Amino acid sequence: MKKVLITGAAGFIGSHLCDRFIREGYHVIGMDNLITGNLKNIEHLFPLEHFEYYHHDVSKFVHIPGNLDYILHFASPASPIDYLKMPIQTLKVGSLGTHNLLGLAKSKNARILIASTSEVYGDPLVHPQTEEYWGMAYHTYHGLETRIVRIFNTYGPRMRMEDGRVLPAFFTQAIRGEGLTVFGDGSQTRSFCYVDDLVEGIYRLLLSDYPYPVNLGNPSEITILEFAQEILRLVGNSKAFIDYRPLPVDDPKQRKPDISKAQSLLQWEPGVNRSEGLEKTYAYFASIVDK
Ligand code: UDP
Repeated sequence: MKKVLITGAAGFIGSHLCDRFIREGYHVIGMDNLITGNLKNIEHLFPLEHFEYYHHDVSKFVHIPGNLDYILHFASPASPIDYLKMPIQTLKVGSLGTHNLLGLAKSKNARILIASTSEVYGDPLVHPQTEEYWGMAYHTYHGLETRIVRIFNTYGPRMRMEDGRVLPAFFTQAIRGEGLTVFGDGSQTRSFCYVDDLVEGIYRLLLSDYPYPVNLGNPSEITILEFAQEILRLVGNSKAFIDYRPLPVDDPKQRKPDISKAQSLLQWEPGVNRSEGLEKTYAYFASIVDK
């Protein structure tokens, strides 16, 4: 039985990865320090024989007894609000944490997959964004088997309500009958990928032999204003409305992944359209938001 370590296991994407690897018949070690993760996201896995949970901060030395086949590093605060609240922990998990896990991968001869964010493309001048638009030593110098997923906006059940991201904000506001806080005139675009599609892409990338960054995201692009209107229609709360707010500085004007690399290397593309994905996500938020 293959053994996989998933860091950030109690987080949004990490918890969905735990589910997937359990379903595929792996022994899963989930690690989290719970600064933004929530045990509720993985408590259904606790009774399983092949799931173990380690409460640990990966910016400290990581010890795993026995053999290890794969490491997926998904531990990090993951929204601008969280980065501002926890700047040091964010830097430490991305630097010291990544370094510790690379060292662990080297000592166990394990393959490691690291999550990168489409934020590296900034306010992009090339549209859609390819992996080459921006520029690994462990791969080059130590021959380590690295995989790098570059994640574009992703949504789905278990997203954190209080992290300031647009989708949890809009659902919470629509359900409570408040204003949906559209920043600027809402003409900036994003492209939203349903979490199950992302997880499928990550699974394929891990098992592929490609060591460089690969974009994963849904190229279906929408303005933030249209997105707010879709959520208003879906929730159907007549008290909710659009509430324009100032645009944050450095807010990228547009974002859309070029996924040709994933299509050709992994035969992957998203299969869940926005209306289906939003329905499933609405069911989740309806169950956790107090009205
Ligand atoms: N946004 C918004 N209202 C909110 C939160 C976000 O209009 O309450 C906008 C934000 O300015 C950005 C887009 O939604 O243009 C996506 O923001 P998010 O923080 O979710 O992700 P990112 O900027 O990383 O794509």
